[in-house]
Amino acid sequence: MADPSADDLRLLLDLQHTESRLRRARRQLDDLPEQRELDEVLQRIRSLEYEHDELRIELDRASAHQRKLEREIEVLGERRDAERTRLYDGSVANPREMKAVEAEVATTERRISEHEDTLLEVLEEVEVLEARGASLTAARDTALDEVEVLTVRRDDAAKDLLAELGELEAQRERQAGQLPDDLLERFTAAAERGGGTGVGELVDNACTACRIQLSMADVGELLGGPPLTTCPQCRRLMVVPA
Ligand SMILES: [Zn+2]
Repeated sequence: MADPSADDLRLLLDLQHTESRLRRARRQLDDLPEQRELDEVLQRIRSLEYEHDELRIELDRASAHQRKLEREIEVLGERRDAERTRLYDGSVANPREMKAVEAEVATTERRISEHEDTLLEVLEEVEVLEARGASLTAARDTALDEVEVLTVRRDDAAKDLLAELGELEAQRERQAGQLPDDLLERFTAAAERGGGTGVGELVDNACTACRIQLSMADVGELLGGPPLTTCPQCRRLMVVPA
């Protein structure tokens, strides 16, 4: 097989350059700052929603406690009123029994008062939880507005990259079409093995594909050999300058 011409080798290196730019553009698309920013806000919304769910559970518990206390206070109040009525309606005449009923009224009053103290604490807790819930909801609404803005910005940024990708793909087609078939085949096979990079160039005693510095003996041998060979380090194709 005849050595490829200098033009073909230049074209081969150009094709590699286009391939590398294509890979970079695809990576950038996956890793757009606008996309990352958007992902961060979406993540924040998820954690706000999680926090809100947790708060909901606490609030339900506190509200149930509130209702239970209110019911108990009502029942205790009714009991106290009934006992008081007995004190004054003449149904209790015996002084000892009277004392017992008075003591019962006092005990019930004390229990009511204790319940009311607890109820106050629970009401405060409910208030605090509701305020936190409102601020979580507000934070989520703000974040949702941000998502709208960021989505537009991400789509804009992606549009430029997608256009660039389209141009690069067309350029690759053009360059590949100009290369002799056998050279393109060798390049394609080498690129598949080499993680997308199929060819390097000997520059400053190193391979531009693997960037490994070569020994003087290797360099000497390469310079004395054909213009297209194989890198002794990474086994990719290597263009040796004349
Ligand atoms: Zn190499």
